[in-house]
Amino acid sequence: MQSFHGSFVHTPRRGELELLRDTRIDVTDGCIARISADPPDASCVTTGDNEYFLPGFVDLHVHAPQWPQLGNALHLPLEDWLWQCTFPLEARCADLDYAHAIYTALVRTLLRHGTTTAVYFGSIHVAATCELARLCAEHGQRAVVGKVVMDDPAANPGYYRDESTDAGLAGTQQLIEYVRDLPGELVLPAITPRFIPSCSDSMLQELGKLTAATGAHVQTHCSESDWEHSYVLDRLGKTDTTALDDFGLLTRRSVLAHANFIGADDMRRIGNRGAGIAHCPLSNAYFADSVFPLRAALDKSMHVGLGTDISGGPSASLFDNARHAISSSRILEHGADPSLPAARRGRKHSRIDFRDALWLASAGGAEVLDLPVGRFVEGNRFDAMLIDTARIDGGIYPDTGDDLDALVQKTIYGATPNNIRQVWTDAVARLH
Ligand SMILES: [Zn+2]
Repeated sequence: MQSFHGSFVHTPRRGELELLRDTRIDVTDGCIARISADPPDASCVTTGDNEYFLPGFVDLHVHAPQWPQLGNALHLPLEDWLWQCTFPLEARCADLDYAHAIYTALVRTLLRHGTTTAVYFGSIHVAATCELARLCAEHGQRAVVGKVVMDDPAANPGYYRDESTDAGLAGTQQLIEYVRDLPGELVLPAITPRFIPSCSDSMLQELGKLTAATGAHVQTHCSESDWEHSYVLDRLGKTDTTALDDFGLLTRRSVLAHANFIGADDMRRIGNRGAGIAHCPLSNAYFADSVFPLRAALDKSMHVGLGTDISGGPSASLFDNARHAISSSRILEHGADPSLPAARRGRKHSRIDFRDALWLASAGGAEVLDLPVGRFVEGNRFDAMLIDTARIDGGIYPDTGDDLDALVQKTIYGATPNNIRQVWTDAVARLH
């Protein structure tokens, strides 16, 4: 049994911040067995005066093979960015040694940023994607990992696509079996059609059947940009959301990246299926042509969490994305074009605040994945980070008069990796 004692902050429900002070959490086999007011003993991990525990963060959208281009090439439109930069880069993961090196760096870096759960797109390569899953298990990061599927010869470069529909399907099955045979319970497989534009109809149909047969998570992109949204309407005569549902790819365990252009019917359909959205606010600023209507989705009680979209977004930090989720929601509310009158400039009631942002980064992401993490409650896994608010080389500047709201707000807006003292998944310390 491991025990933790001191101050814990989390969002038991969206919009609600809770401080558990002088609290003891006892963990058995990685699971929170008991939360009590019992005093600490010598074996407890305890918080100092300026410290508190936060739930580990859940990053719902990461492209692992794009790690080497983080912060680069963000001036291009999405389709040019894919063809000129991203497909050639992802193709390099045919080299397993190269993939091992970049994936090791990525997993360790994300843990350093407090990301205890990550949802990864691999590349088209089965061996490299299996290695990514193995590295997550080895380094102790909870993860959902998928081999990217892109089989349509007309829509993908000859040097980077599944050899055939059958090959893409077989590779997906191989990945699922490999991940399910890994020791431990931290890593789960995902069925991963890149997006509808890169897949044939028959591939999407077969992946839908595989989803039903395996119960695996699904991850894909949905109505991301004007180009992508229009492409699917032109090809299939329906929205991404309707198409994914008709292919059997919209389930309780589906993660739809972006979803900026979903309409009211799409929202209802996603909500009815219990599928979730990976809101990637930094990436959206560069590639999505709009701000995602986050408040509207939350008010409909949809499942929503945050994603970095490495490397569509230029930051590995979910703190950065939490901040930007707030600021972009404010931009949507107030509008962006100063030549318009204030009354016509924005969309009313669009803002979120730092409590919502913390919920999205932790409990909201966990809800999307249907995983028992993101909150300090009995029965959940103990995935957490220890925040030190007094680091002179961090980004939090406490004042003696700060109450809990002020301190957590300053953390959401300012925390850097230097403010993260340690990170745990299943109550095992992961930073060394
Ligand atoms: Zn993406």
